[in-house]
Amino acid sequence: MTSGLQPEPIRFTLSFPAPETHYVEVEAVVPTGGRSSVDLDMAVWTPGSYLVREYSRHVEQVRAESDGQPRDVEKTAKNRWRVQTGGAASIVVRYRAYGREMTVRTNYVDAEFALINGAPTFLTLAGESARPHYVRLAPPASWTSSHTGLPAVGVEPHHYLAADYDTLVDSPIVAGSPDVHEFQAGGRPHSLVNVGDDGVWDGRTSSADVRRIVEAQQAFWGEVPYDKYVFINMITEATGGLEHKNSTVLMTSRWKSRTRRGYVDWLSLVSHEFFHLWNVKRLRPAELGPFEYGRENFTRTLWVAEGLTTYYGDLLAARAGVLTPAEYLGELSTMIASLQTTPGRLAQSVEEASFDAWIRFYRPDENTPNTTISYYDKGGVIGFLLDVEIRAASGGRRSLDDVMRAALSRFSGASGFTSAEFRALISEIAGADLSQWLARALDTTEELDYSGIGRLGLRFRPATPSDAAWLGLTLVMPGATLRNDGGRLVVSGVRRGTPVHEAGVNAEDEVIALGGYRVRPDQWAARLEAFKPGQRVALLVARRERLLTLEVTFGAEPLKAWVLEPDPQATGDASAALAAWLAPGAPPA
Ligand SMILES: [Zn+2]
Repeated sequence: MTSGLQPEPIRFTLSFPAPETHYVEVEAVVPTGGRSSVDLDMAVWTPGSYLVREYSRHVEQVRAESDGQPRDVEKTAKNRWRVQTGGAASIVVRYRAYGREMTVRTNYVDAEFALINGAPTFLTLAGESARPHYVRLAPPASWTSSHTGLPAVGVEPHHYLAADYDTLVDSPIVAGSPDVHEFQAGGRPHSLVNVGDDGVWDGRTSSADVRRIVEAQQAFWGEVPYDKYVFINMITEATGGLEHKNSTVLMTSRWKSRTRRGYVDWLSLVSHEFFHLWNVKRLRPAELGPFEYGRENFTRTLWVAEGLTTYYGDLLAARAGVLTPAEYLGELSTMIASLQTTPGRLAQSVEEASFDAWIRFYRPDENTPNTTISYYDKGGVIGFLLDVEIRAASGGRRSLDDVMRAALSRFSGASGFTSAEFRALISEIAGADLSQWLARALDTTEELDYSGIGRLGLRFRPATPSDAAWLGLTLVMPGATLRNDGGRLVVSGVRRGTPVHEAGVNAEDEVIALGGYRVRPDQWAARLEAFKPGQRVALLVARRERLLTLEVTFGAEPLKAWVLEPDPQATGDASAALAAWLAPGAPPA
């Protein structure tokens, strides 16, 4: 329904009368267009995080009134309400939403702050997402500010306008008393909003480094397609990041700015989410827009959306100078090692992994490493190897950088890209037919071919064979397959191709003794040193309270074969290619 040119807006007011109980109270003034009833919908998922999460389970006490009279509200589906209007031009709908899940896609409300995401918060008129949505916050008096990618309305604080429902869902809002660092880059204002900073986080240094990442990426793409950008950095000990068109929510440990290892992780996260404002929020898979908010949106090309973003997030942080070349090669090596040591790479192609994100990646269990490959890891490694191929095929004149920029200009309109279109563009820009290379990498479970990395002046550090005994059980993260459960040594997962898989060890077995002797969690690593590959010993486990003895044969620890380094024997051409790869990129003239 319209009045004049613009559809009439929905006007929301969010208040927090008892934030310590984790509720946001929502009031919505909803235009009816003169209908006798209207249907209100709620999203079941948050774009960028591919799992149906049933947000309506946190919504309660949906009530409506018009002309001062209460109106009937009937729930007609898991995420839909039919509201009688009494013939009024607008109705007032009130409800409460519970939020105490500290993730980038959900709501979190407590006495100190509120993180409000659109999908778990706002009901909207079903099938009418094009209308404007106003949001006014009424925060507790002790909260000093609110922050969002939405433009502010008027001079009163905490009043924002989303041009449509997609923008509302794409614009998380944080309110509280954060530590805010502002800077200009590319002629636009940016803010790093540190929520939960109590003096441990290094705000000044991190803000300066974020700015360098922003400037490197603006230069890479050659455009700045937003009016302002907000980094909402939740310093809450949770982890994660979620991309939006002109903002991101990051979750981090407060200690990450205090160690170089932790800080590199955080810079990598910042760079990844910022890269997404182009790759996936504008240059996007055909299936990811316009979004269907009530069900899964399947796509085969998350290797582009997430994999290539993972590749470039780290690479552009290195080109920005916030990661050293050695740190960057370390990040890339870790990603390659993760791919090459995950058995699921031999069970599922990367496009299958993308399609099944909704039922596998976001629903991991103890068997996931055996059946599934991460489209972040494999997509990122494909990005690296593809970049090597394109640089070699074009004599160094073209790179994957050119593909990304060409893809942005060609596919960032209304329709997005299909896998076939993106593949064709790669060959077109490379000036060489890479369709067979891409088919193998994307459609099969064949091992990726690393033989070309020498052309980029790189090699894998020669690994020394280990004579350490190995069972395929480790307490060391990442990839731990054992956990210390209050002093009990419990198997958390059994990977294919390991001695314990051969021996019939199960997830949730408690390991009690090895070779006839008791072993406890703090003794595990040292005890393995007492054995040799090829030795056969008894492994005593408890399973469903029964003691079982399994015969297990120690293997040899796999080679640590995936550490990239500059090749000391590299030719001048290869060394030049390495320098060019790590140098700041330039957009096309
Ligand atoms: Zn991502």
